[in-house]
Amino acid sequence: MADRLDFSHEPNLTIDDLVGRVLNYHPEADVELLKRAYEFSAKAHITQKRSSGEPYIIHPLNVVATLVKLKMDIETLVAGFLHDVVEDCDVDPMEIEKFFGASIAQIVVGLTKISKIEFKSKEESQAENFRKMLVAMAKDLRVIIVKLADRMHNIRTLQYVSALKQQRVAQETLDIYVPLASRLGIHSVKSDLEDLCLRYLHPDIYYKLAEKVAKKRSEREHYIMDCMQTINEKLEEYNVKAEVTGRSKNFYSIYKKMNSRGVDFEQIQDLLAFRIIVSNITECYKALGVVHSSFTPIPGRFKDYVAIPKANNYQSLHTTVIGPKAERIEIQIRTYEMHEVAERGIAAHWKYKERGNQLVEDSKDLAWVKELLEFNQSMKNNSEFMDAIKDDLDMGGVFIFTPKGDVKELPFGATPLDFAFAVHTEVGSTCVGAKINGKLVSLKYRLKSGDTIDILTSKTQTPSKDWLKIVKTSRARNKIKQYLAKIERDKNREVGEQLLEKAVISYGTTVKAIEKRGEFKKILEFYNLKHLEELFVQIGIGHSNVKDILKNIPSIEIENVEEVQEQIETLSQSIKAQAKRAANKDNAVIVDGIDDIQVRMGKCCNPIPGDQIVGLITKGRGISVHSFKCRKILDFEDGRRIQVDWNPNYQYKYTVTIRVITHDKPGILAQISRTINNIGINIKSAVAKSMPDQKGDFLFEVEVKDFSEYLRVVSTLEALDEVISVDRA
Ligand code: MN
Repeated sequence: MADRLDFSHEPNLTIDDLVGRVLNYHPEADVELLKRAYEFSAKAHITQKRSSGEPYIIHPLNVVATLVKLKMDIETLVAGFLHDVVEDCDVDPMEIEKFFGASIAQIVVGLTKISKIEFKSKEESQAENFRKMLVAMAKDLRVIIVKLADRMHNIRTLQYVSALKQQRVAQETLDIYVPLASRLGIHSVKSDLEDLCLRYLHPDIYYKLAEKVAKKRSEREHYIMDCMQTINEKLEEYNVKAEVTGRSKNFYSIYKKMNSRGVDFEQIQDLLAFRIIVSNITECYKALGVVHSSFTPIPGRFKDYVAIPKANNYQSLHTTVIGPKAERIEIQIRTYEMHEVAERGIAAHWKYKERGNQLVEDSKDLAWVKELLEFNQSMKNNSEFMDAIKDDLDMGGVFIFTPKGDVKELPFGATPLDFAFAVHTEVGSTCVGAKINGKLVSLKYRLKSGDTIDILTSKTQTPSKDWLKIVKTSRARNKIKQYLAKIERDKNREVGEQLLEKAVISYGTTVKAIEKRGEFKKILEFYNLKHLEELFVQIGIGHSNVKDILKNIPSIEIENVEEVQEQIETLSQSIKAQAKRAANKDNAVIVDGIDDIQVRMGKCCNPIPGDQIVGLITKGRGISVHSFKCRKILDFEDGRRIQVDWNPNYQYKYTVTIRVITHDKPGILAQISRTINNIGINIKSAVAKSMPDQKGDFLFEVEVKDFSEYLRVVSTLEALDEVISVDRA
C-alpha cells in the first residue's frame, strides 16, 4: 500500500485485466459500460497503429490502466477509452452522448479541444494551451486527469517518434503537465513525468545519473535495507506500529538539486528518501519523536505539513536527519490516508463515488482554478498570462500567520504587499509597510515561514509602478496593473479634454456648447463610442485626431486645414509635457515648456506653496524659484525670468528625526549617510555623539514623503551589521 504507483507500459493488457482491477476497488462498478466503451474504442481505432507498430487500442487500454491505478470513477475510465475517437476517428460527439451520456461526452469534447491546439511561437502557444485547458478543467476536472494519463502513456512510448517531436513533447510536458499534476497534488504522476522528461530533454544527464545510480545500486540497496531495519527497530522499541519504505529519490529531483546548488552528483548527499506510514496523526508525531531522538536532525529541514497542509491538501511531516554511516537521509511521515492523497491528489476525490461530478464542483480545490480563469479574462497578453500561471503553479511556499493566528500560504519570495493583496485589494492598495514579528520592515521584505505579519495601511497610499517589481503573486500584480491602467485612462481623459477644449476655444465656442447642440453625436457614432468621456480618452491616447473631429463639428468652419493641424500638434505637445511634469510628484514646481531642468527654491525668500512665484534662469545652476516680493528678482533682466507654477501633485516632504545607535567604528557616520542618500532620501542634518561604551549615537534629520519612505530608511539601516538600533527620536 505504501509503495509508489507504477505506471509502466503494459504491452499485453486486456479489457478483462482492467475489469478485474476495477472490481477490486469498486465492486459495484458498472463494468458493462466500461466493456462497451472498450468495444466502441477498439472498433473506431481498428485500422490504426501506434508508432511502435502495435495496434492502436493498446494506447487507450494503458491510459485507462493509469486511471484505474488512480482509482477513478467509471465515467472517467469510459472517457479514457474514448479520449481519441473524436479526434482520430471522426466520431461525432453526439454519438458519444447518445451511447454514454452527456457528462462523458463533455469530458471527451474537452480532451479533443485540448489536443487541437496548434503550436506557434513557444511561449505564446503554451499560454493559449494553458488557457484552454483551464477552461476545460473548470467544467470538469476529470478532463485534466484523463489528459495526464494520456500524456503519461505517450511520453512513455516516445522512443518511436522523431527526436524533434520527443523534445517538443517533453518540454511541453515539463512546462504544463508537470506543474498541473503538482498543483492537483498527484505526486505519483508528477515525479513520473519529470523523470521521463529529463530523459528526452537532457539525455546525457539522465543516462549519467542512471549509470551512477546503477553502479552503486547494490551498495545503496544494502544501505537502504540497513536504514529501514534501524528505523523499524527504533519504532518498535517505542511501540509505534508503522510501515517503512525506502528508495532513491527520482532523477529529476536529484538533477534539480545539482542545478540549484551547482554541485555534481558525487556531492549530492541526500539521495535517499524514507517513508514511515502510520495509522493516525498522533502516531505521526510519535514516530517523528522517535526519529529525532534516534538520529541527529538537520536544523531548518523539518516541515510540518500535517498541521499546515499545502494548498493542494498534501500532508506529511518532512525531516532530514543524519542516518547510519553519517549519510543524510530524508524522512517523510504520514498516515495511510495522507499517503492516498499524496499519491493520487485530486483524483482521491472520486474514490468510491460513482457520479463524482458534484463532489468536485463545490470542492475548495476549484477555487484556484476559478481565480486563474478570472485572470484569464482580464489579461490580454498571452505571455503575461503565462507568467502569472507559472507563478501560481510553482509549488511550495511560505506559511505566514496573521496576528489572529490564521495561516496563509504564499509563494517563495512573496513580500508584505503580496500578503496585503491576498487579504483584500483595499488592504493591498493602501499598504505602507508591515510589522513582522513586531518589527517594522519595508515593502520589499521577503516573508519567511512562521512570520507573524501585521499590515500597516495609510489612506493616502496608492499603488505605484515600482510595486510591480516587488510583488511575487499574480493576484497582487494583477490588482496593481488594474489600478495603474485606470490612472493612465484618467490621465489620457484629462489631456484629451484639455486639448479639445483649447482647440475649440480658438473658434469662439466650448466643448460644453458643442455638446449641448448635439454636435458630438455623429462623431461618437463614427468612432463607435458611447460617451464623450471615451472620446476624450481616445484623443489623449492619440487614437482620435482633433483636426478630424473639428472638421465634423458643423458649427466650426475650418479654413486652412494644414495650419490647424500644426496648431493642434503644438498644443498637444505642450499639454502632454505639462501633464507629464505634473505627474512627477517629486517636482514642487513646474517650469512651463522645459523638461528635466534643475529647480531650486531661493534661499533668500524661501517661497512656500501658494505664494506667487517666478523662476530665474541662473548661470549653470538651473532655475531658482523666488517669491514675487523677493528683491533678488530685480537683479535679473526680463529675459532671464521664466514662468513657473506650483505642481498640484507634488508630495510634500516631512522632516523626521531618527536616532541610530551603532557599534563604534571609524567611518560609520559616512557609511550611514551614504546608505540613506543611496535610497534617494535627503538628510537635512546629522549630529554625532560617541558614547562611553564603544557605541555610536547619531541623530539624523531626514526628509520623507510618507510613512512608507520612513520605513524604508529604518529597515535599510537596520540591515547594516554595525547598526544596533534605529528609532524615531
Ligand atoms: Mn491519446
